[in-house]
Amino acid sequence: MSIRAVVWGENVHENTNDDVRALYPQGMHECIADALNKNAGITATTATLQQPEHGLDEQTLASTDVLLWWGHAAHGDVSDEIVDRVQQRVWEGMGLIVLHSGHFSKIFKRMMGTPCSLTWREAGEKERLWAINRSHPICAGIDGFFELPNSEMYGEPFTVPEPMDTVFISWFEGGEVFRSGLTWQRGAGKIFYFGPGHETYPIYHDENIQRVLSNAVHWAANTAAAWTGIEDAPNRALADALEPIEQKGKSLHQDGEEGFK
Ligand code: ZN
Repeated sequence: MSIRAVVWGENVHENTNDDVRALYPQGMHECIADALNKNAGITATTATLQQPEHGLDEQTLASTDVLLWWGHAAHGDVSDEIVDRVQQRVWEGMGLIVLHSGHFSKIFKRMMGTPCSLTWREAGEKERLWAINRSHPICAGIDGFFELPNSEMYGEPFTVPEPMDTVFISWFEGGEVFRSGLTWQRGAGKIFYFGPGHETYPIYHDENIQRVLSNAVHWAANTAAAWTGIEDAPNRALADALEPIEQKGKSLHQDGEEGFK
């Protein structure tokens, strides 16, 4: 079955800035979805901030395998209720790919639990992305490194938790470096952060960027059944132990009692 991806776009600068509109007449989210749809194994649709429930109603999220998130100017306009809903789905196993300025989105900060801050400079400088974990599926088809002629510098320190994998490290013309491709798992859901994607450069038209995003969707997709009840803390009775055991010492709780411990 095809992986069901939803590309969420804040869709603000595409409507307010002529340079961005010229590069992405249909919006960055549509450009990314078109690129993903070139891949036979992915069916990508889009959702935007301006839609009811930001296009992320219960039914849509329940049938989403991987959610991609691009936001910049309007992080604060995203409803906390929708953030709760996305977080729940990540815990259950939905993949989440956070792009560029999405490092400050509510959902990314929620999943990381840290400030997610970084240094930055908008000078159109060259970015060289080194695939430092070349056997990682997200790097498939990337021959060591690739370059973007014009990019926004994102630099360290990037205040995120230690990742599961560091897939890419970027070097910028001005000398900074940045861990630009990082993975985590939260609950049953895989998360990938990918640094490039400033809206005034044609980054989502770049073939290598499109390849990485397709690879990332395949990597983040979890085809197993949703892991429901992940927030529960079930108490297992002595009689249910796989090996025979006896109660040793006193117990604060009754055997088999439900509730938080
Ligand atoms: Zn930017």
